[in-house]
Amino acid sequence: MVNYNPAEIEERWQLQWEKEDFYRSEIDHQQTKYYVLEMFPYPSGKLHMGHMRVYSIGDVLARFLRMRGYNVIHPMGWDAFGLPAENAAIEHRVNPAIWTVENIKHMKKQQNRLGVSYDWRREVNTSAPDYYRWSQWLFLMMYKRGLAYKKKASVNWCESCNTVLANEQVEKGLCWRCSSVVETRDLEQWFLRITEYAERLLNDLNKLEDWPERVKVMQHNWIGRSEGAEIVFQLKEFPGEEIRTFTTRPDTLFGVTSMVLAPEHPLVKKLVEGTEQEKEVLDFVSQMRRVSEIERTADEAPKIGLFTGRHVINPVNGEEVPILIGNYVLMAYGTGAVMGVPAHDQRDFDFARKYNLPVKVVIQPAGEVLNGDTMNEAYTGAGEMVNSGEFNDLPNHAGMEKVTAYLEQQGQGRFQVTYRLRDWLISRQRYWGAPIPIIYCDGCGIVPVPEEDLPVELPLEVELSGNRVSGLAHYESFTRVKCPTCGREAHRETDTMDTFICSSWYFMRYTSPQCQDAPFEKEAVDYWMPVDQYIGGIEHAVLHLLYARFFTKVLYDAGLSKADEPFSRLLAQGMVYKDGAKMSKSKGNVVTPDEIVEKYGADTGRLFILFAAPPEKDLDWSDQGVEGCHRFLRRIWRLVIDCREQFATGQGGSIYSTNEETLERSVHAAIKKVTLDIQERYNFNTAISAIMELVNAAYAYRQVAAKEEQNQSLLKDALQKIILLIAPFAPHLAEESWHLLEQKGSVHRQTWPEFDPQKLILDEVEIVVQINGKVRGRVTVPAECTEEELAQFAKSSERVGELLAGKMIIKVIAVPGRLVNIVVR
Ligand SMILES: [Zn+2]
Ligand SMILES: [Zn+2]
Repeated sequence: MVNYNPAEIEERWQLQWEKEDFYRSEIDHQQTKYYVLEMFPYPSGKLHMGHMRVYSIGDVLARFLRMRGYNVIHPMGWDAFGLPAENAAIEHRVNPAIWTVENIKHMKKQQNRLGVSYDWRREVNTSAPDYYRWSQWLFLMMYKRGLAYKKKASVNWCESCNTVLANEQVEKGLCWRCSSVVETRDLEQWFLRITEYAERLLNDLNKLEDWPERVKVMQHNWIGRSEGAEIVFQLKEFPGEEIRTFTTRPDTLFGVTSMVLAPEHPLVKKLVEGTEQEKEVLDFVSQMRRVSEIERTADEAPKIGLFTGRHVINPVNGEEVPILIGNYVLMAYGTGAVMGVPAHDQRDFDFARKYNLPVKVVIQPAGEVLNGDTMNEAYTGAGEMVNSGEFNDLPNHAGMEKVTAYLEQQGQGRFQVTYRLRDWLISRQRYWGAPIPIIYCDGCGIVPVPEEDLPVELPLEVELSGNRVSGLAHYESFTRVKCPTCGREAHRETDTMDTFICSSWYFMRYTSPQCQDAPFEKEAVDYWMPVDQYIGGIEHAVLHLLYARFFTKVLYDAGLSKADEPFSRLLAQGMVYKDGAKMSKSKGNVVTPDEIVEKYGADTGRLFILFAAPPEKDLDWSDQGVEGCHRFLRRIWRLVIDCREQFATGQGGSIYSTNEETLERSVHAAIKKVTLDIQERYNFNTAISAIMELVNAAYAYRQVAAKEEQNQSLLKDALQKIILLIAPFAPHLAEESWHLLEQKGSVHRQTWPEFDPQKLILDEVEIVVQINGKVRGRVTVPAECTEEELAQFAKSSERVGELLAGKMIIKVIAVPGRLVNIVVR
């Protein structure tokens, strides 16, 4: 008896696959392509269980689809720019580039040890000059298309990361990477005009039928489209000056009792100049500059307002409305001015009650009379307009349009659509990123680096200043450059790009990673894109997944690719927990892929991780569960070894028995279940259960029938099917077993087995066939069949067929298991 020795088997096959470039993929127009992709990792140097889970999910699909006849591309690479490499440079005095390459080497070894079927010839590393050259090229392409621009703006600043952050990278006022409190700073920064794509990014969410609903909802809310009116208020004390504001409720315009400005609003200084409020207001403004926007606008933050001593005129009724400064109004959103309608907006209501502003009801719900002096909360529902002059008695929805039309006529406003989405801030004051390829010349201004001079490479020697890696401004050899236009002394942009740029297009680079004269080859990208199945974490819902969609659309518009969405199908995998908590060093509950592979082998680890929970659900690590999966693989192994010996001796008969039928039916039932569970539902756990049942059936068959009575060809067939079905999950064990049974070629190049529905029929029953209520015959049918099938069987029986000739069938009544009555005329 040969023991199951996963370490020996797995490493031997991995070496063989590597030697043969076994999983290479090529363009083949005769075949249907399928692009399976897992989000590429940051090369931290350590593979964790979350990685192992996402790769196992991707690999099962890739292997299954190959066997189903698809031309599968399954690449892997490295999202290699970012802060940890700089920290390593400080801690270990090692160059980030060298540290990164070492980590990649190590992680790649770990991935290979899991037996994941990557086409390594397609590997990309975003920190390699031959990759970031094209990130820079794409930046310039956007610049030329007017989609990249520089401006001074209040930006989110993380002191601990020593860099600015995009809005998407601030979560509840904290840095997404290090959880420090984010501050606001005024800086000259580069932006990408993602807002230009807001409408398309929103509308095209409808095309993404196979994305999780929650991810689409998150993007939908992040883009935040709203319809309403821009309204112009004239200033009472400064004739000719105006304040613009946006509202989604122009129907409530008659109820405005305050105008609240952001502290940064450009008019503030002028408004308070010389008033008794001047000092107080300006102090408040400078105080607000030290608080982050997110903190200011948090739901639980107190709403603070200060009167400026000035007023605006309401354009519909000429009323004077006081102007206040409020901490909760932001300049970056909308116009930095909010009209206060306390009767019909809860935030305005709270604010009005706090500062004793009048509450004026202008929408009256049916069957109720609201009173502004006594109401306890704002009324935000529908109703009829009141106290609204010529618009009185209109339903408020009709009123929205009417009021907007009136304002347009008066030149005091217009219909407007606004978005919550802001332009993407991409400048980072870091060393380890792709340099922004821009040169500043005193004579020529902003000059893009000519394409032939790309890449703008990072300086090789890293300098440290204090406990930080110096930003690029520190390296004179880098910053000094001749202006490409006029030849005079000039200097380079010293910011690097947000690493999310590198990951916004890597899936296209995979299609032709060696391409030298473009980011990717047109033929390759058009053949392989879009990604058919993308697998990764939900935490990227409004970061990477939104940015990648934006890039894909820009590339589509530029004619570089035919895909206008990057990912047809998205699977957001669940987390891996142990003892009810996320695995973490501090909790001491970490299990590493290395440990599992060493103790049980990669096949067991993969099988467990897929068996323990459906892919999108959280998974609780269980040592017993791993043991169980290992025992199951050993059971397959023993079956293979035993049968192999048995086949060699030629023992066995071919006597028909009910045992055989049972085993045969189990084979087909398993094929059906595994196929549908993988293909339609991604229920890998129930697919594995079905294989377990089949293995049990094979054992049972061998126990019931004496050896000499066992049908060898049937047993052989069952065994083959078990190996084919387990191949995507436990690729090494399957490959070894396949060879032990002296089958030809690799198990991973075999066609996926088909099931025969006939073989699934459990039992047959005889039913009565009536015509117009009279018994005219009997037919034998499968015990489990639908009413339609039953009717079909009845009509096709010979005797009944004769009787039906020339008659018109009015109705067929089928009672499964009993009878069919055919009503004719
Ligand atoms: Zn930070
Ligand atoms: Zn110049």
